[in-house]
Amino acid sequence: MEAKAATPVMMRGEGLGSAPGENPTFAGRIELPYTLTTGRAASVFLAELANHKLVGSRCEKCGDVAVPAQDFCAACGETTAADFEVAPTGALTGFTATPAGVLAMIRLDGADCDLVHKVLDAELADLEVGTRVAARWAASPAGSMLDVEGFEVSDAAAAGEWPQPFEATADVEPVLEQSYDLRLDYDHAFGPYYGTLFDGIATSRRIQGVRCPRCTCVLVPPREYCDACFVRTEEWVDVADTGTIKAFSVIHMEFVGQVREPPYVYAEIVLDGSATRLIHSIGGIDVEEAKERLHTGMKVRAVWKDAEPTGSLEDIDYFEPVFD
Ligand SMILES: [Zn+2]
Ligand SMILES: [Zn+2]
Repeated sequence: MEAKAATPVMMRGEGLGSAPGENPTFAGRIELPYTLTTGRAASVFLAELANHKLVGSRCEKCGDVAVPAQDFCAACGETTAADFEVAPTGALTGFTATPAGVLAMIRLDGADCDLVHKVLDAELADLEVGTRVAARWAASPAGSMLDVEGFEVSDAAAAGEWPQPFEATADVEPVLEQSYDLRLDYDHAFGPYYGTLFDGIATSRRIQGVRCPRCTCVLVPPREYCDACFVRTEEWVDVADTGTIKAFSVIHMEFVGQVREPPYVYAEIVLDGSATRLIHSIGGIDVEEAKERLHTGMKVRAVWKDAEPTGSLEDIDYFEPVFD
């Protein structure tokens, strides 16, 4: 948000084509923490990593061995269980470089599918399809896929026949849940339309819309195409910070993302000079009396915040009714 206020962009009057690359952005973030239930077979796979075992599932119907162990066979749909173990060694079937290092598809000895994991201490030039690798185990297991720190290039072959029937280690608790913190950082560009509106508000409390050349409606917030006619808007127009209530509601309920504390009054307001409804709050009135004292068609005016403008419609504290 600060980035937007600090670098206002002035694009009024210029061609209205989109040029998102030239516009300021602000940093956005979506955070989604969640708990994954691992499932019957994978919970055993995760737990046994601490014992340096790679547990798979062997389908009784088609014979495929999957690793990590699965509840159902991916090939035929048969119910499967964590009942076979594959070797901690295998061969690369594909690999790529990423900012986090080399990732590879690894066909572990005894498995019929590939496992995606890191290749440690290797450059792409060192690798080819068929390169032999061996698991490097993490020093302190935590019940996650990273209990295998990664795979390193090694010609060593694990002794024994693979796959081999798996016996659950005594006292191993399945890892039934895993916590994830999914996070998506992104830059949001306002674009020339919202950017112009927010600039006007930040620099001079100026509210601007665009006029549709066909229906002549002035749209606030401004947008590139008229919602009704689907033609490109062409002309910037200043609208007033006064308007008319078209609808209103007293909000008592709390909900996620709410910026005001209930109870408060939300209203659809048509600003003088515009044809569209702007949603904002009504203040300067006792909320308890709002239902009796407010009515549609009533005039309102913006009450701007005293604070430094941020360049958003939240710079308007609320709209207050104009009682005749
Ligand atoms: Zn199968
Ligand atoms: Zn139109």
